Amino acid sequence: MEVIGRRITDLWFTECQTENMKLDLRISNILLNKDTEYQHIVVADTEEYGRIMVLDGAIQITERDEFCYHEMMAHVAMCSHPEPSRVLIVGGGDGGILREVVKYDILDTVTLVDIDKEVIQASRDFFPGVSCGLDHPKAEILPMDAMEFIINHENQFDVIIVDSTDPVDFAAGLFQSSFYSDVFKSLKNQGLLVAQTESPFAESRLMKQAYLEMKKTFKDVYLCWGAMPTYPTGMWTYTIGGKNLNPKTSLRTPPTGLKYYSEAIHKHCFTLPAFLQEIIEQYNA
Ligand code: SAM
Repeated sequence: MEVIGRRITDLWFTECQTENMKLDLRISNILLNKDTEYQHIVVADTEEYGRIMVLDGAIQITERDEFCYHEMMAHVAMCSHPEPSRVLIVGGGDGGILREVVKYDILDTVTLVDIDKEVIQASRDFFPGVSCGLDHPKAEILPMDAMEFIINHENQFDVIIVDSTDPVDFAAGLFQSSFYSDVFKSLKNQGLLVAQTESPFAESRLMKQAYLEMKKTFKDVYLCWGAMPTYPTGMWTYTIGGKNLNPKTSLRTPPTGLKYYSEAIHKHCFTLPAFLQEIIEQYNA
């Protein structure tokens, strides 16, 4: 690893989380700061959250809290599908979700499709604890656009997890009904689609959009939520499309050693605070 900066005493990374809200993190070292073919990537060490990866100014992972997100994105689906043997991860180039998925003996293969191979490489170089699953024998890593990949893979997957950057530019299509209908076709007869759907406080418009777009394809759509401190407002939602399957019931014991997800969390994460329930009920009206 080439250290670019000296120890810096008063440098801050600022994420503009909305046009009126910022998050500042004190930086102790900048390890990577470059344009890839698709986005700008920064890897830096922070005093509060350890090492962080930033894409186009938005925090993707931090060493300190990534488990909150990656465990929710992986285990709600992996524990509620009767036989999650073939899994697709859209985006997720840091490898955090893949690290969680390969913990299941029932898994046959997990395919990770991220458009930007330099994100995958940066995670290998700077986040060994997150990218450790990328070389698992059951893992297939494909650096390509997931919207192209999905159309040639009908009836192939039990679980599809969409861990993309925010819905702008080359990621925008991953939040639209046309993509969700390709996902539906790519799922086997019983399948689950899991998507990160932003914060009900900072981006409720995006959360609503994803839910309504998914509803156009999946008869049953479920919303669950959890804590994710370094994402805008720290309250994060996960929207799950069920193809002949209800994700609310956990069917198996999760792997040991998890730090966020548990059977109790599974049971309660679908219980929405009244304000969130109200929003969802508007969509189901
Ligand atoms: N957990 C983070 C979040 O919630 O914002 C996302 C982490 S992951 C690094 C996001 C990945 O989505 C990026 O590596 C990006 O390259 C990938 N991505 C965005 N659009 C994509 C597309 N159309 N096909 C495949 N990967 C895509």
